[in-house]
Amino acid sequence: MVDLKALDLPELETFFTRRGEPRWRAHQVYRWIWQKGSTDPLAWTDLPRILRERLAEETRVSALRAEHAAASRDGTVKFIFALEDGHRVESVWIPDRDRRTVCVSSQVGCALGCTFCATGLLGLSRNLKAHEIVDQVLQASLLMGERATNVVFMGMGEPLQNWEEVKKALVMLMRHIGLNLGARRITVSTVGIPHRIRELARFPRQVRLAFSLHSAIQEKRETIIPLARRFPLPEILDALWDYYEAHRRWITLEYIHLPGFNDGPEDIEALVRLGRKIPSKVNVIPFNPHPELPFRAPEMEETEAFVSRLRRRFPHPVTFRRPRGRDVFGACGQLALMVQQEARHP
Ligand code: SF4
Repeated sequence: MVDLKALDLPELETFFTRRGEPRWRAHQVYRWIWQKGSTDPLAWTDLPRILRERLAEETRVSALRAEHAAASRDGTVKFIFALEDGHRVESVWIPDRDRRTVCVSSQVGCALGCTFCATGLLGLSRNLKAHEIVDQVLQASLLMGERATNVVFMGMGEPLQNWEEVKKALVMLMRHIGLNLGARRITVSTVGIPHRIRELARFPRQVRLAFSLHSAIQEKRETIIPLARRFPLPEILDALWDYYEAHRRWITLEYIHLPGFNDGPEDIEALVRLGRKIPSKVNVIPFNPHPELPFRAPEMEETEAFVSRLRRRFPHPVTFRRPRGRDVFGACGQLALMVQQEARHP
């Protein structure tokens, strides 16, 4: 039975025109699904009754099921969504002043095994389909009773390893008759896959790019990000430069503060050298600890001291993201891991 949610607008148009219906039926249905969050064709009252009944009999509209929601004192809500095949992904709702950001997953788990990341411990089960990525935003908005204003691809998975579906999801997120998010309100985060960064550079809309740097010293970076051995920093920087030239948008360098590992004078020197090569700002994030990960959490004063030392030298802005949702397991993949572990060891 065809899942109407899995069809993007052009596919939905084909679906209806093949059945002798006008093309704009697809637009009506797309609105019901992606603007109103309806999964019941019988409720689509601007369609003829006969068509509604036919759709109810012959098609279906899938929806991610929130299996678990944990609300932090700071307003952050972490969801575990169950997919139709039983896999689970994590999404996070982050309210901040006038922003309502949804952090989405792009894969079930991740194959890349970064040593500071709980998702890396899960391994990769599969890529998400575009509609499963976009549905995280829709379902989180429906559950929170508010429209999402921003989307970041910083949940489970490396988005650029699932580029075809992520590209389709970006288009769906921006559709005016759907969730209608502006390109500048969407950020794709990557650990650095040069040829895919170039594809993002060629993408016609100005989606923001965040590069998970975490160390500007190649040898050190390789010890925490195995993929860095395949794609060294100079190659990634070339690709980031191509992205900058194409969109004229500064790149965010994500930098998880791992105390005693990436906060020394030589680390700051390397960051400063890199910052001189690429229009970029640094976003420092204190590491969120997990029992199976080999790093400790920094004291707040340690991170503040590192940030102020970096600010004195780095040629561009340095921002410091205070940890959100720590009381409900903050780092990406940690909630999924906890739920999985609960299932394994009830
Ligand atoms: S940091 Fe990103 S790329 Fe690395 S293991 Fe975690 S999800 Fe995968």
